[in-house]
Amino acid sequence: MKTELFVGNEWIAADSGETFEVVNPATEEVIAQVAKGGEADIDAAVAAARSCFDSEEWRKMSGRKRGKLLAKAADILQSRLGEFAELESIHNGKTLFEAKIEVFMSVSTLRYYAGWADKIEGKTIPVEGPFFVSTRREPIGVVGAIVPWNFPLNLASWKYAPALAAGCTVVLKPASETPLTALLFGEVIAEAGFPPGAFNVVSGGGSTAGMALVRHPGVDKIAFTGSTEVGRLIMQEAAKSNKRVSLELGGKSPNIVFADADIDAAVRGALTGIFYGKGEVCAAGSRLLVEESVREEVVDKLAARAAKLIPGDPLEKGTRMGALVSKSQRDSVLEYIARGKKEGARLVAGGNPVAVNGKGYFLEATVFDDVTPEMTISREEIFGPVLSVLSFEGEEGAVELANETLYGLAAGIWTSDIAKAHRVADRVKAGTVWINAYNYYDTAAPFGGFKASGFGRELGGEALDAFLETKTVWVNLG
Ligand code: NAP
Ligand code: MG
Repeated sequence: MKTELFVGNEWIAADSGETFEVVNPATEEVIAQVAKGGEADIDAAVAAARSCFDSEEWRKMSGRKRGKLLAKAADILQSRLGEFAELESIHNGKTLFEAKIEVFMSVSTLRYYAGWADKIEGKTIPVEGPFFVSTRREPIGVVGAIVPWNFPLNLASWKYAPALAAGCTVVLKPASETPLTALLFGEVIAEAGFPPGAFNVVSGGGSTAGMALVRHPGVDKIAFTGSTEVGRLIMQEAAKSNKRVSLELGGKSPNIVFADADIDAAVRGALTGIFYGKGEVCAAGSRLLVEESVREEVVDKLAARAAKLIPGDPLEKGTRMGALVSKSQRDSVLEYIARGKKEGARLVAGGNPVAVNGKGYFLEATVFDDVTPEMTISREEIFGPVLSVLSFEGEEGAVELANETLYGLAAGIWTSDIAKAHRVADRVKAGTVWINAYNYYDTAAPFGGFKASGFGRELGGEALDAFLETKTVWVNLG
């Protein structure tokens, strides 16, 4: 296990000498004491990233060579997939199965952007007059990446892989609950042969180390994934220096089931939509909107299947649901469940905390029926295994209810009418719409939010835009 800061391809203690505890939420055991980075450590990491960015070696490195380094990192991470997955599981609480998928997605992300590194091109532009005008796509500079605890390795890779492909250098601040896989990833970067300072990791608190990164004059861009609230704070701070920002924030995504859908497929999709990753998924389909004529059938099937999703030891083969990330996260989800009951929603499955071998922050797969749009559990992101079922009448009713939210990250549509599916997809305000599917991702497919779910896109070719500036060059031919 690596527990020190990764700066300039070396591991160093925090300047203050302080550490913080990392807990396994499935066993409640302290599994590591990790260096608690602060302002001085952010200074050191930004200096390393800046000096690498300005170095001849990095400036003159071809895109092809950067691509080779990323591909090498992908190979190394793939060869250590089991080790990274186990570590991801023990600090996050997710099942080993989910953790393996996550590490595999990071490998894919590295490989995908390895392929982009030598394909970043400008244009030649015809203009009036005797001029030759072309554009170049240049790296923005030093990138500060701040990520949450739900997909620690993967959400980091969605930032550093395109950033490094674009020719930027990176300082990563992982979440305090889950710093271990980010720190260990330093080994992959060093072994792949990246020059010192290209990629750095500073663990530490959000309002201290995280905010120091946001405020740092040596950082050109902040790429953030996390809560809408912290996203707003970051925008405000970044505005003071016109720092570039891209934000991937929360969601309250509608998963719409029309009466003409394949109901069993829709129920399976609703279950993975909310219970995958214990519901700690920004794109979770946390509002299930069901056409009134099939509501009873859908809710009965959902409740029966949710009751079989019993939380268990995340490392044990066959476990379908792990532990929530922390005690405070579970307490917060339990409060939402209490609010749901109090405001009149009808609990049809789960609702209770669970211990596995007498320990851990587990929670039953929970389903509420008879939820109305005014209820707290229909409006606020719960970020846990809690599904709210609301009902609607007709296509117009579905669209209206789907868009009755501040957020706009994702949506699902279940119907056998392809024309209706497209009409609704057209009108739902969300960055990703799945039709007869939910929770699918591919490194080639852009992902990001509308409205309060943020702006900028990750994944796909579009993600590179977040790490590039366009320079227009005019040559007088007269
Ligand atoms: P969070 O509190 O916003 O934290 C996210 C990251 O920001 C952590 O590294 C955190 O550090 C840091 N941070 C906290 N306060 C900060 C500040 N004032 N300045 C700079 N950095 C700061 O979110 P969370 O509680 O970890 O994660 C849950 C939320 O993230 C949910 O709302 C969820 O929807 C959202 N999320 C969105 C996506 C997406 O792709 N759209 C993906 C995952 C999660 P500490 O850990 O040290 O506090
Ligand atoms: Mg937080």
